[in-house]
Amino acid sequence: MAHATVLLAGSPIRTNLGILGFSAVTLVESEGLRILVDVGHYGRRERLLAALAAHRIDPVAVDHVVLTHLHWDHALNLDLLPEAEIHVGAAEIDRAEAPPANDPHTIRGAAAWLRARRTHPISAPTTVLAEGVELVLTPGHSPGHLAVVVHEPAGRLLVAGDAVPTRRAWLRGRPDHVYDDASLAEASVARLHALEPTRVVPGHDAPFRVRPDGTEHEPAEEVEFVFREDRERDFRWRGGEVPARETYD
Ligand SMILES: [Zn+2]
Repeated sequence: MAHATVLLAGSPIRTNLGILGFSAVTLVESEGLRILVDVGHYGRRERLLAALAAHRIDPVAVDHVVLTHLHWDHALNLDLLPEAEIHVGAAEIDRAEAPPANDPHTIRGAAAWLRARRTHPISAPTTVLAEGVELVLTPGHSPGHLAVVVHEPAGRLLVAGDAVPTRRAWLRGRPDHVYDDASLAEASVARLHALEPTRVVPGHDAPFRVRPDGTEHEPAEEVEFVFREDRERDFRWRGGEVPARETYD
C-alpha cells in the first residue's frame, strides 16, 4: 500500500495581469521510496522547501519525481531535487525539443535538462512505479501527460495534473485548457472516471472527494492577497467585497 500527502494544493486563481500557475505538488510514499508528483514553479520554491522540511524530508532524499507534463508551472523546480529519477511522458520530451507556437507553456530547454538527468520516458498506457503507485498516460491537455493513481488503505487517490485541473473539469469531462488534442483530452478524463477514484488531487484546485452522490471539495487554504502600496504599506485582502480604500491610508 502507498500513501499520499498533498504538500502544496493547486489553485484556480487567475488574474488579468498574468497567470499565477499554482499547481499541486503531492508526496507519495511506498516501499520506503519518496516520490513527488510535480514540483511547481519558482514562485512556490520556498513553500515547497518548507513543506518538505515540515515532513523531515531532505530534497536530496527524494527518490523519484513524476512530472505530469512539462508546462512551466508544474516542472520548473526540478533542480531542487538533484538525486531524483524522473518519470515523464516520452511525447512531452519530444514536444520540449521543439514546442509549437500554440503551446507557450512547455519549458523551452526542458529536453536538455532531462537528458542530463536519470530520466525514464513513459509511453505505456499504464506503468507501475512502486507498490500501489501507477502512472497512467492521459494525453490531450499535452501530448504525453501522466496522471498518477495511488492505492491507499482508504481508497484510490488520483493525482490528476492538468488532465483534470479543477473539480469543474472532472464534472464536465474535459480539462479547462487543451494544448494538444481536445478529443484525446476528453477520452483521458473518461479513462480516469472509469478508475473510480475516491479522492482527486486536481492540477489547479483544492482536492475533492468523489462519492456516489456527488463530489465535495476538501477545505482549502485561505488565500490572502498582499499589494505593496506607494507608502510602503501592505494592502491585504482576503476575498469578498473590497473594503473602502481609506481604511488603508
Ligand atoms: Zn498544463
